[in-house]
Amino acid sequence: MKKILIIHTGGTISMKENKETGEVDTGDGHPLQKIAAANIESVQIEEEILFHIPSPHITPDHMLTLGRKIHEQLAKNELDGVVITHGTDTLEETAYFLDLFLQTRKPIVVTGAMRSSNEIGADGLYNLITGTRVAASDEAQDKGVLVVMNDEIHTAKNVTKTSTSNVATFQSPQYGPIGITTKRDVFFHHKLSNRDSYPIQQINKHVSLVKAYAGMDGTIFKALMNNPLDGLVIEALGQGNLPPDTVQPLKEILAQGIPVVLVSRCYQGIVQDTYAYEGGGRKLREAGIIFANGLTGPKARIKLLVALEMTKNPTELAPMFDY
Ligand code: ASP
Repeated sequence: MKKILIIHTGGTISMKENKETGEVDTGDGHPLQKIAAANIESVQIEEEILFHIPSPHITPDHMLTLGRKIHEQLAKNELDGVVITHGTDTLEETAYFLDLFLQTRKPIVVTGAMRSSNEIGADGLYNLITGTRVAASDEAQDKGVLVVMNDEIHTAKNVTKTSTSNVATFQSPQYGPIGITTKRDVFFHHKLSNRDSYPIQQINKHVSLVKAYAGMDGTIFKALMNNPLDGLVIEALGQGNLPPDTVQPLKEILAQGIPVVLVSRCYQGIVQDTYAYEGGGRKLREAGIIFANGLTGPKARIKLLVALEMTKNPTELAPMFDY
């Protein structure tokens, strides 16, 4: 029988609705603890509550603590896989951090819920059971960190929360899920591209994320320079272009040796150094800005936080954002 560890961290999956006020919040204890175990007889389940917090309270420190915990448990216990329950707001960031941090062939699954445990149509228990079945499946090995929600299996790298409230919120725009679950089975239908891994010891850098807009000037970048800043991620326009007034302050940031990574605010496609006008991608690349290969802004920020623990050198950082 496969042995799976479930680690709870909080989020709506661990919350209850107050039927009088409609408020949803964390109470004492986890409403689903021991319930998954009671519903899946074919898997031996161990459970642990690591955090009991909403996911907007999750920080990179929490992510590293969780990553270390999984690493330790995989080393000392004879586990076949791990399932993490997490709030959905920042689930994709924690999942991607774990994907970069953990070096294991064993299945690691992150799941959550859009409706709290006592709401009508609550999806938490279902997602937890399905996530556990995926973690216990042989096919889930060697696939990096997976996000299992609403009968779909997504990679940590491509998945993103697309709806504020719909249970089908987790999607992988452009790529789609890599598998699905049915009542009886787990099916994978895509192969994964190469993954990289970063066994960091700490995560202490200051990396900001800024979204570009029409008419943007340099005010935000000048303000950032007056505060601790080790790296910057910009969600640029279209194929990777910025309004012209942002260019000079960005050059000043680069001149201080602070790496700047560019992604697009479009939810599909990859940034390219095509346009040669002032603020165009070609000029930004020539100025030393690193182009990321298809990550969202929040995920490029996680990757830069992690990568900066290995090197500050832009020529070493740039290839890390090629995949
Ligand atoms: N705000 C909640 C959280 O991320 C949403 C959820 O879990 O679905 O903690």
